[in-house]
Amino acid sequence: MSTHPHASPSFESVPQLDLAAQYAVIGGEIRAAIEKVLASQQFVLGPEGAALEQEIASLCGVAYGVGVGSGTDALVLALRACGVQAGDEVLLPPFTFVATGSAVSALGARPVFADIRPETYNVDPAELERRVTPRTRAIVVVHLYGLAADMDPILAFAKARRLPVIEDNAQAIGASYRGRRTGSLGDAACLSFYPTKNLGAYGDAGMVVSNSKELSERIRTLRNHGQTAKYFSSEPGWNNRLDELQAAILRVKLRHLSNWQRARQASAAEYTRLLNQVPGVMPPVTPEGFEHVFHQYTIRVERRDALLQFLNERKIGSTVYYPYPLHLQPLYASLGHKPGDFPHSERAAQEVLSLPMYPELRREQIARVVEAIADFLKC
Ligand SMILES: *Cc1c(COP(=O)(O)O)cnc(C)c1O
Repeated sequence: MSTHPHASPSFESVPQLDLAAQYAVIGGEIRAAIEKVLASQQFVLGPEGAALEQEIASLCGVAYGVGVGSGTDALVLALRACGVQAGDEVLLPPFTFVATGSAVSALGARPVFADIRPETYNVDPAELERRVTPRTRAIVVVHLYGLAADMDPILAFAKARRLPVIEDNAQAIGASYRGRRTGSLGDAACLSFYPTKNLGAYGDAGMVVSNSKELSERIRTLRNHGQTAKYFSSEPGWNNRLDELQAAILRVKLRHLSNWQRARQASAAEYTRLLNQVPGVMPPVTPEGFEHVFHQYTIRVERRDALLQFLNERKIGSTVYYPYPLHLQPLYASLGHKPGDFPHSERAAQEVLSLPMYPELRREQIARVVEAIADFLKC
């Protein structure tokens, strides 16, 4: 901190994410957990992974958890266990991280996009009904930014059509919807422990959680080469296992997650309180009955790209999640979509901006971010 009487605090940088601030607090606990695994010399499919599976399942309010190598692995395995095969169609929103779509493509299935609701950025249940066909085999719902999708109408639609629902819960661990945790709402849910997620490992890791014993057992087999007994495979699988070091690190961080979640929610409330006085900015909304966990605090503004540049010049980190909806990326050129096909997703991609958000974010940093946004909107 500068002691110069006229030093402007506006030159202090505010990062978008500050994992070093977290490590400064929990480093000792983490190193002890790593030491324990090193002493055991058991690195794959051991007690840490098994304990983490139980703890995460219990956090999500379901019976089973199966640790896997990443959130992407979790999606591929959950889709496969739900019966998705080459040639099938899978419904999903185009406004998401690419993995939601590439998991479908990895199985040779075809993503069929359904637009989002502009105010929550999550899939519009009415859009699912519009896009379903006789070839639809499953629905992937994304709880974007830490807010659950509107699950009741989605689940009613899925039930009527006998379609499995897979939650992409990579961004919303700990969130809830009408008193139920995300992860417990669909047939299976996929978690990512990518380092920047609300519960982040020190490398790649993920999990599938479910109340279905059958589905969980199938995924447990698939993640380990389809082996139902040692060196005896019942079907072709792969190596999608979660390792013990990551599991041990995640178990330490899990003990802090509810405090971190409260800190994120307090920061979000402070942002919203201040931004409500700044015309031209739309803060994120949390509908009645939803608990948002603010993986991102994402605003909507018209001159988004200019604001992003303005903030970065003031050393304020901000990021666009996500600038290109899936249907307009070269990856899906073969689907033949064009601009205008999913207008709410396209407009969101042009207008969203995620502001600094992490548990250690301080009130004065939030004030500085909002002050910069207000300055920008004045010019
Ligand atoms: C992070 C993320 C994934 C992929 O998880 P990885 O662990 O990086 O493979 C999938 N979907 C969404 C919405 C994500 O944010």
